[in-house]
Amino acid sequence: MAVGVLALQGSFNEHLAALRRIGVKGVEIRKAEQLENVSSLIIPGGESTTMAKLAELHNLFPALREFVKMGKPVWGTCAGLIFLADKATGQKTGGQELVGGLDCTVHRNFFGSQIQSFEAELPVPELAATEGGPPSFRAVFIRAPAILEVGPGVEVLASVSIQSNKNVDFNPALQDNQEGSAESDTSKVIVAVKQGNILATAFHPELTIDSRWHSYFMKMLPSNNEITAASSSSSYYADQESYLYNKQPKTDLPIYE
Ligand code: GLN
Repeated sequence: MAVGVLALQGSFNEHLAALRRIGVKGVEIRKAEQLENVSSLIIPGGESTTMAKLAELHNLFPALREFVKMGKPVWGTCAGLIFLADKATGQKTGGQELVGGLDCTVHRNFFGSQIQSFEAELPVPELAATEGGPPSFRAVFIRAPAILEVGPGVEVLASVSIQSNKNVDFNPALQDNQEGSAESDTSKVIVAVKQGNILATAFHPELTIDSRWHSYFMKMLPSNNEITAASSSSSYYADQESYLYNKQPKTDLPIYE
């Protein structure tokens, strides 16, 4: 069965391309009945308020909640993470409808406005243990949310360092270059989690060439576990085995297709 990608708005095409790179068929989901034909679902990044309005218009919320409850793997990236959270703060007046299921509180636009978007190298021990490759992942944060609190059943997969008491006007790339900035001035916020069948990342793995989050998500499918686990050494960078990650300039732009 194919992987569904919610295609109301946002970076669904980039997720479909990322799935193609690891040899997985993805299909666009716009109607509730289309969810019956997919084994798992990706809710992409975009604008969560707009996406929620469109989901409401197409009466998708009941089917999305049902899909999550059935235990099928669901991965939310950025706005998709907001969709899956049980609680969101920093929402527009009147809030927005959420799918829920992920026992956490997210804060929308935690790192500031669009121009404060950034890239950061995140330590990803669990991802590297499962998928191989470098111990860190270069993550693209675009007006990203952060996870402020998680429930006991939630596994934290990645955090980003931020300056304490400063969650606006923050850019880790700049902070990395600040000489003499004391260790005690930084704290960490959670940006990737897993809870049972739900995976959520505040950043956009579909915009980079590193396919490990996509292959990690595929392993959440019980039937695929053995197959993908057996090929895990070749799933890293997928069809681009000759690709030399460490030679890639760290200022590279995201990959679009
Ligand atoms: N800030 C956006 C929102 O709240 C999410 C941004 C993104 O998905 N890149 O919906």
